[in-house]
Amino acid sequence: MKLILLGAPGAGKGTQADILCEKLDIPTISTGNILRAAVKNGTPTGLKAKAFMDAGQLVPDEVIIGIISERLEEPDCAKGYILDGVPRTIAQAEALEKAGIVFDSVVSLEVSDEAICERMSGRRVCESCGASYHVAAVPPKTEGVCDKCGGKLIQRKDDAPETVKSRLEVYHKETEPLKAFYAERGLLKTVENQPTVEAVSQAILRVLGR
Ligand code: AMP
Repeated sequence: MKLILLGAPGAGKGTQADILCEKLDIPTISTGNILRAAVKNGTPTGLKAKAFMDAGQLVPDEVIIGIISERLEEPDCAKGYILDGVPRTIAQAEALEKAGIVFDSVVSLEVSDEAICERMSGRRVCESCGASYHVAAVPPKTEGVCDKCGGKLIQRKDDAPETVKSRLEVYHKETEPLKAFYAERGLLKTVENQPTVEAVSQAILRVLGR
């Protein structure tokens, strides 16, 4: 199963990818998590990406295409994967297509901008493993501590309200056109926002026929 999760920042891609990768037994590949680790470790990619990320802008396509091509060659990707937050531009989607990567489904998580802005203020992520939480909707067992690895939960710098606004603008302009791109290829499935995280997972599995 090769799956892309599309959706605005904060639509729940990371949370759903965490759930789906356990249910489907395939890895999640999140370019956001890879980039945050690179920034934290001060690698050349991290140094290139940091200013774009802090401003809520997209990291240049060539950097992303390099990261993703390398990651997809790792052995754990052989039986499939879930892409979270990539592709994010038509150029990235075309690069994946050119590389001969064929997807089974593209699921778009539909959440209104208003709901996104409300949600982002409560989001917390693990600074070690990147797992996502929400103070009300997906709280960790112990406040401030990651259930999975015991890492510290922090608020992302780019979840500040002004940066969220820019990220939503970038999403509508650069990423939303991917819905038409994948609809043309017969791959697009949409899932409307649901009252709970579990209900969204069920809806995704339903559209995937699982
Ligand atoms: P995310 O965790 O997916 O919200 O990504 C956080 C930030 O990383 C984004 O706001 C971008 O600056 C950068 N980023 C992550 N994935 C991509 C991508 N596929 N293309 C360009 N920039 C990306």
